[in-house]
Amino acid sequence: MATKPHSKNVATTRVAMIAIKVLLLPFLVHAIGRHLRAHLGIQLEDEAGATMGGANATQVTSSSQNTFAAGSLAGKALELAARSLAPPSQSTLALLREESDWKNNLILGLCLPPSVDFESWPRFMKSWARNFVAGLSLYLIVGGLWAAVCYGPLKKAFYGNTPTPSGVDMAKQIWVSLQAMPLYTALPAVCEAIVERGYTLVYPRVDDFGVGAFVLFFVVYLTSVEFGVYWMHRSLHDVKSAYGLLHKTHHIYNKEHTLSPFAGLAFNPLDGILQAVPYVWSLFFIPTHYLTHELLLFGTAIWTTNIHDCIDGACEPIMGAGYHLLHHTNYRTNYGHYLTYCDRIFGSLEVPKREIPAKKTM
Ligand SMILES: [Zn+2]
Ligand SMILES: [Zn+2]
Repeated sequence: MATKPHSKNVATTRVAMIAIKVLLLPFLVHAIGRHLRAHLGIQLEDEAGATMGGANATQVTSSSQNTFAAGSLAGKALELAARSLAPPSQSTLALLREESDWKNNLILGLCLPPSVDFESWPRFMKSWARNFVAGLSLYLIVGGLWAAVCYGPLKKAFYGNTPTPSGVDMAKQIWVSLQAMPLYTALPAVCEAIVERGYTLVYPRVDDFGVGAFVLFFVVYLTSVEFGVYWMHRSLHDVKSAYGLLHKTHHIYNKEHTLSPFAGLAFNPLDGILQAVPYVWSLFFIPTHYLTHELLLFGTAIWTTNIHDCIDGACEPIMGAGYHLLHHTNYRTNYGHYLTYCDRIFGSLEVPKREIPAKKTM
């Protein structure tokens, strides 16, 4: 079902209302965390003046205000919420910085000649260089390998007699992506600087809250990212100036035989960053394992390669290439990121037409 075009004012007002609500969410969540900690008598490591302790370590200084029996399921859930909605302790931030140093040494140490003294670079510069090298390598290697396979030995199996993109189309998409890459990779570097200053709810070790909480937080985080990317993408279509100035660059490739895996990152850099902002913004109000966040953010480079190859995997509720091809050809449907449910809920889903095998009758 396709959505009707919206008037400029309606679209702009709706986008503004969503932005205001989203901006208020972190303050609300942090206030809930503070209220819960006060209610349960939980004092944070930093607040207690402790200098040692595990990540996000807390000290229960009083249980007299806890109306739930200690150890009860409700009591445990409340305590988990109170602890996880707290700003990271100094020991947590030290662990996060250690983790960043380890990643810098691993990637920059591997890619730069020994004569380059990258360790003396400013912290932000090291982070950006690491993310640039990782992002660029991932884009070229994954896109190149997949293009070589699907337009090489498996071309007939995947596309039959349908035309495939020319080398010129792919070269243009690579050129647009390469121009945008320095700015794309500034986003995770900015994110890292924010995280290391303690403004988010990220945590460095799965053990900090346990595997069960890790899975729960991961699902909430993914839901927030899906919702955020859906509305950001839809807004880039609904607000005409945003479409004309930013998103139009990606929609130059609007025919099946011009889209290729290399179109996955072929955006105006600001457009690409805006669509990745939900990954960062969600960290302000959802406790998230930091390395998982980074892997997911870089995983989008692989994911977007996959949804631009025009091969319909028929893998609902995953928003595969069959859906994204429809988005490129009609502009007003299938804005979702990984899954189809936001389009279904908000009335913009268009299901690819497929030949249904005839049922056998008895
Ligand atoms: Zn679009
Ligand atoms: Zn696309």
